Amino acid sequence: MNFRFFSLQEANRHEPIKVDLSQVKAKDMFATDVFTRDSMAEYIADNTLRELFACIDNGKPLSRDIANSVAIGMRKWAMDKGATHYTHWFQPLTGGTAEKHDAFIAINAQGHLIEEFTGNVLYQQEPDASSFPSGGIRNTFEARGYSAWDPSSPAFVIGDTLCIPTVFVAYTGEALDYKTPLLRSTAVLDKAATDVARYFDKGVTGVVANLGWEQEYFLVDEALWNARPDMKLTGRTLMGHDSAKNQQLEDHYFGAIPERVLQFMRELEISALKVGIPLKTRHNEVAPGQFEMAPIFEEVNISNDHNLLVMSLMDTVARKHHFRVLLHEKPYAGVNGSGKHCNWSLQTNNGTNLLAPGHNPYQNLQFITFLVNVLMAVKRHNGLIKASIASATNEHRLGANEAPPAIISVFLGKQISEVLDKLEHTTADKAIIINAKKEMKLGLSTIPEILLDNTDRNRTSPFAFTGNRFEFRAVGSSANCGAAMLVLNSAVAAQLILFKKAVDKRIEKGEPKERALFAVIKEYIIESKPIHFEGNGYSDEWKKEAQKRGLDCETTVPLIFDRYLLPDSIDMFRLTGVLSEAELRSRTEVKWETYSKKLQIESRVLGDLVINHVLPAAKSYQTMLLQNVLAVKQVFSEDEVKSLNAQDYSIIRRIEHLSGAIIEDVDKMTEQRHKANRIADEREKAIAYHDTVLPLMAKIRTHADTLEMIVDDELWTLPKYRELQFVH
Ligand code: ADP
Ligand code: MG
Repeated sequence: MNFRFFSLQEANRHEPIKVDLSQVKAKDMFATDVFTRDSMAEYIADNTLRELFACIDNGKPLSRDIANSVAIGMRKWAMDKGATHYTHWFQPLTGGTAEKHDAFIAINAQGHLIEEFTGNVLYQQEPDASSFPSGGIRNTFEARGYSAWDPSSPAFVIGDTLCIPTVFVAYTGEALDYKTPLLRSTAVLDKAATDVARYFDKGVTGVVANLGWEQEYFLVDEALWNARPDMKLTGRTLMGHDSAKNQQLEDHYFGAIPERVLQFMRELEISALKVGIPLKTRHNEVAPGQFEMAPIFEEVNISNDHNLLVMSLMDTVARKHHFRVLLHEKPYAGVNGSGKHCNWSLQTNNGTNLLAPGHNPYQNLQFITFLVNVLMAVKRHNGLIKASIASATNEHRLGANEAPPAIISVFLGKQISEVLDKLEHTTADKAIIINAKKEMKLGLSTIPEILLDNTDRNRTSPFAFTGNRFEFRAVGSSANCGAAMLVLNSAVAAQLILFKKAVDKRIEKGEPKERALFAVIKEYIIESKPIHFEGNGYSDEWKKEAQKRGLDCETTVPLIFDRYLLPDSIDMFRLTGVLSEAELRSRTEVKWETYSKKLQIESRVLGDLVINHVLPAAKSYQTMLLQNVLAVKQVFSEDEVKSLNAQDYSIIRRIEHLSGAIIEDVDKMTEQRHKANRIADEREKAIAYHDTVLPLMAKIRTHADTLEMIVDDELWTLPKYRELQFVH
């Protein structure tokens, strides 16, 4: 029996593993494994607690003594939860999270083993992490990267380990991770947005960015996954003919969740709730085997930590249920891929959502101010924003007929578009009546409430306003959302700084505040027009139109990375202090390097699959047919043989032709890969992989997929799409 049939039998054997919910309530489970303020109060003395809260809330540095006291309380709490080890938990540029566990033990001066966890190790560690990519910032012989505690994201316990969220920086202070620049971006955005919000409300002393992510993923049966080397090694299928039925009937979307999957989701939700992740939504997605979950939104740094944490929980829980979770953006050709919509908004310390229309004219002017500044930021940095979501894996989704198109534009909906239109064509003194019934006036003296109907949603837009937030839909399912969020935060912060300068200049010249605001808003409405697009983002007309409008239309990922190094990007990051030019250069270097390495691995695996799986199966089948031809000859007359063998001959020839093409193209691909590997410059190497290796991979795949339709099913060793995609 071949491996495929063996794994098919295995795959069908798993009964759903029931998760007992009778004993547990979400409310009682929530954040039980998190070092929350309540648990801090239980384990830490009052005076230390005050200092710690001041540090968390206002970024006030902690003294060594205080850190020591916090560490003692944190260790006690963690040990009461069953922890024996601790780890600094950080977010290297390779994606995902990294950890290195140490036990809570030390040897004291008397040579005794004691339990210990000091302020120093809570605060800072030097993991021997010299093999994480640094893009040249850290010479490997220096090899010094530090992880340092981020007190704004609470510590938590998983299994026997206390996890402490940390930043990861070089000894010279440069960021080697996603969290450091994300935190820098939230700080500068806080300041810039607060300054602007105070035009409207002097009570505002702080602004946070919120993030609510929607994580899409695929599940595949573990036994089948085990029989697919491409899934195991690259996270996606590198070949596989379409299943006759896939998502055409759209019967999977929002359909009943299969029982085995439901049990997986339940267990995942319980694990997530315990570590403080407020998972709320779960449903089937469009493609067979595809699902989605979303939490309630939170402050962006915490929400992003929670997303990374959930991605690793998914993996652990899936294994228990004999599934594997695929976070890859495009595990299967021919059906939808997975993204991670990032819902983003700005909120003041007194609870106002700056991207929600308000209840009075003044609030609405504030809303329009922030909305238009976001438009300007996205317009000015549309290429960079695209770069923030570009990767070798998301490349398969970019520009395919599913969000996102490879051109960044903003969808606002009919009502907001009308408001901007009216504002553009009016004077400061004139009230604007948009719709008498809805009492939509927008002027300076009276700006009444904008009543939103949130029904017209454009699914083809990569960046859409959805009533009280922007939804950035281009982010990939496997990505660290921090990469996109730090760019968005910084671009908006930089824009708000410029806005404030322009308004203040007018005020200094004696213009009343409202008129000054209105004048700059009007300029911005006009200037940001090219980014505003309400039509079909997938259409060819849009591609032409976008080009005319001067938007970034590049689709080649290694070239999209160049956008990090545009003078405008470097200036913006310098102005906001989020990333220095050296950091930008090193990050881009890492991106090119990662791109090439991913393609190198895929290309090798594909070569292996077609030479060692596809060709032997094809040759065996061809041999069977040839033997049949000979047998027919022995039994039948010459005339009968002619007609009887015609079909066999045609299949034998097709197999011969396709096998020959595979061998030829694999040779070519290997040669191109070797050529690319010899290129020293990372950018050039990535471009070579994109231009020369990728197209050959596509060709080889077509040959293999054609053979899959010809060769005897019993001889085919790899599980097919029709088996992989339908989980049960
Ligand atoms: P849909 O699929 O309709 O976009 P979901 O309910 O799947 O909606 O996800 C919406 C996400 O947006 C959730 O994570 C939700 O918490 C988040 N969200 C809602 N309001 C805001 C807001 N003001 N700021 C940021 N995120 C928000
Ligand atoms: Mg959404």
